Amino acid sequence: MKHRIVVLGAGYAGAFAAGNLARRLSPSDIEITVVNAVPDFVERMRLHQLATGQDLAFRKLADVFAGTGVRLRLARVTGVDPGRRTVTVTGEDGDGELAYDTLLYALGSSVAHHGVPGVTEYAFDVTGRSSALRLRERLAGLGEGGTVLVVGEGLTGIETATEFAESRPDLSIALAARGELGAWLSPKARRHLRHAFDRLGITVHEHTGIEAVEPTRAIAADGTSIPADVTVWSAGFAVHPIAAASGLEVAETGQIAVDRTMRSVSHPDVYAAGDCAYAIGENGRPLPMSCASAGFTNMQATAAIIARLTGSEVPTTGLKYHGNHISLGRRDAIFQMVDRDVRSRSWYLGGRTAARLKSGVLKGAGWGIAHPTFGMPKRKRRLATASDRAGVRAAA
Ligand SMILES: Cc1cc2nc3c(=O)[nH]c(=O)nc-3n(C[C@H](O)[C@H](O)[C@H](O)COP(=O)(O)OP(=O)(O)OC[C@H]3O[C@@H](n4cnc5c(N)ncnc54)[C@H](O)[C@@H]3O)c2cc1C
Repeated sequence: MKHRIVVLGAGYAGAFAAGNLARRLSPSDIEITVVNAVPDFVERMRLHQLATGQDLAFRKLADVFAGTGVRLRLARVTGVDPGRRTVTVTGEDGDGELAYDTLLYALGSSVAHHGVPGVTEYAFDVTGRSSALRLRERLAGLGEGGTVLVVGEGLTGIETATEFAESRPDLSIALAARGELGAWLSPKARRHLRHAFDRLGITVHEHTGIEAVEPTRAIAADGTSIPADVTVWSAGFAVHPIAAASGLEVAETGQIAVDRTMRSVSHPDVYAAGDCAYAIGENGRPLPMSCASAGFTNMQATAAIIARLTGSEVPTTGLKYHGNHISLGRRDAIFQMVDRDVRSRSWYLGGRTAARLKSGVLKGAGWGIAHPTFGMPKRKRRLATASDRAGVRAAA
């Protein structure tokens, strides 16, 4: 019987991890199944671009995994039973159950509503492809002078507001910030950001927490009403409640609590990577939900899975947080490095060079996932002997 590895989610973390496992482990011993809700590899980092109407071609996951031996199951995960080592799914084929020996949970995240009234009913977001497409349709129907309010001064809020302002100069774009715009940036980078907002004509409402969203306006905590034909909610990411409901130990955020090797602290045959993992970085702080963290955590998870299954020493790979690379439309960006305490360093890179670099990072991430067989080792690793394998299972 083969060792069944099931990977939940084929985003940046899951798709890369599945390809990596297939590249390194022998198909004689291992069966890898990836479960994903949609047939494409969705580059979430480009969803604000998609919302503005840019044509983006997302690769079919079936093409990505062709020739790798990875089985693709298109279905929505509805639950995990770590006691029985099963996953329940629902899809076009109806409801089903998948059994696993090792599970890699990488279901990512979606928009965080924070319970604010009206967000679910009236606000748009760019955290998933379907919501970005809904917003794209709404923006396309918005005539000259239409008002758009982006709520949230985090990275996604900044990227969204600047992308919209650059591609739709006929609209009136505003951003509501709870604090001050770019407060965490170095003074020079912050000046750069403010200059970009001025250049693009974006109105900034600072110290403005939005407490309700209505069809044509948003209401701030002090009662101020901000007109908005379209409100885009960019106030953070939240993880799916599946992990918490399954009995896996989770952090307050609902992310799966993992050890240094990305192994669940409560269920050793479960690993987590990407946005849904509560992973502590080398600086002693939780890694932020980001593509970079998805890269580091999936590399660590796959290295640990391979080592444990093949009976070798588990390596520790890097879990770093270098900084943020923020697009400001297609022709400008800010690359801000941070120190160990997540304080911005005084040095930053801005302008066209930073934009070109960011474009290269996005392309590189997509390319790496689309070419899982690149660098395929000549000999794949076999599992440890049958008795060792039984031991690995028992230990798991
Ligand atoms: C507009 C935008 C811009 C961003 N820009 C940046 C940036 O510049 N830099 C950066 O580092 N990060 C950025 N991020 C954050 C980054 O995209 C995420 O941190 C990253 O996608 C996390 O990777 P992941 O694999 O954990 O999750 P995801 O990429 O979200 O993948 C999760 C996968 O799981 C699937 N899935 C979800 N639920 C289910 C289910 N129930 N059943 C089956 N399948 C399911 C999804 O379809 C998806 O394929 C941005 C995010 C957004 C929205």
